[in-house]
Amino acid sequence: MTALQKLYEGKAKILYATADPTILLACYKDDATAFNAQKRGTIAGKGRINCTMSEHLFRKLEAAGVPTHFVDCPAPNEMHVRALTIVPLEVIVRNFAAGSLCKQTGIALGTPLDPPLIEFCYKNDEFGDPLVTEGRIYAMKLATPAQVREITELTQRINEILRDFFQQCDIILVDFKIEFGIDSGGRIVLGDEISPDTCRLWDAKETDPIARVLDKDRFRQDLGNVEGAYQRVLEKVLAN
Ligand code: UDP
Repeated sequence: MTALQKLYEGKAKILYATADPTILLACYKDDATAFNAQKRGTIAGKGRINCTMSEHLFRKLEAAGVPTHFVDCPAPNEMHVRALTIVPLEVIVRNFAAGSLCKQTGIALGTPLDPPLIEFCYKNDEFGDPLVTEGRIYAMKLATPAQVREITELTQRINEILRDFFQQCDIILVDFKIEFGIDSGGRIVLGDEISPDTCRLWDAKETDPIARVLDKDRFRQDLGNVEGAYQRVLEKVLAN
C-alpha cells in the first residue's frame, strides 16, 4: 500500500493516509524528545527498533485477545495501523515507583506497587499532559464511565501480559504509557506504540542503578549508550 498525503507529524512518528481510508501508515522516527519537547535529540536506529518491538508486542497481545491497531510492517520502521479516533488520555501503569510518581509523592524509586497503579493524563502538550482524576475526565468529556471501565480492564490485562513477557526476557517492566482509540465499530482498541520510549525497563540481572536502565531515561538523564540499551531490549524481546 503506498503512502499518500502526510496527515500528522508527532514527536516520534509521522502518519500518512493510504489508498484504504481505514488504514494509516505510521513511520517511526529516530528523533527523541523529553520533558514536553524541551530536550531534543536523535537516537540512531530508534525508529526501526521501536517499530519492530511494538510489532512483536502487538502480535503477542493480539494472540492473547487484546485488540490493537496493528496491521503489518511493510518496512522495519513502518507500520500499517487501523485508523482510530484517539481517546485523548495517556494511560500510565506503574509496577514500581519511578519518574514523576517519585518526584510528586516522595515514594522511593523502585518501591513495588501492588496492586499496580493505573493513572490517567490528559493528552495535551499545551497543558503539559496533566494528571487527571476520573471526575475531570467526565467533566472534560474525554471518555465515558463505560469507556474508562473498559480501558482500565484492558490495561490491567495488558500489564499482566507484558510484565510476564518481560520477566521471561530478564527485564523488569517498571512502568509504561499506553493510548487507546475507538475503531469504526465503536470498539476500544490499543493504539500508539510499546517501546523503550514509552516503558521504563530495568535489566533484572543488574543491580547498579545506572547500568540497569534500558529505556528512554538514558536519554532523559544523559546516562550514555542510549542506542546500545534500545538494541539490547530489542534483541531480548525478539529472542522470547
Ligand atoms: N511516558 C510516555 N510519554 C509521556 C509521559 C510518560 O511514554 O508523555 C511514559 C514514561 O516513559 C514512563 C511512564 O510513562 O515509562 C511514566 O512516566 P512518568 O509519569 O513517570 O513521567 P516522566 O518522569 O517520564 O516524565
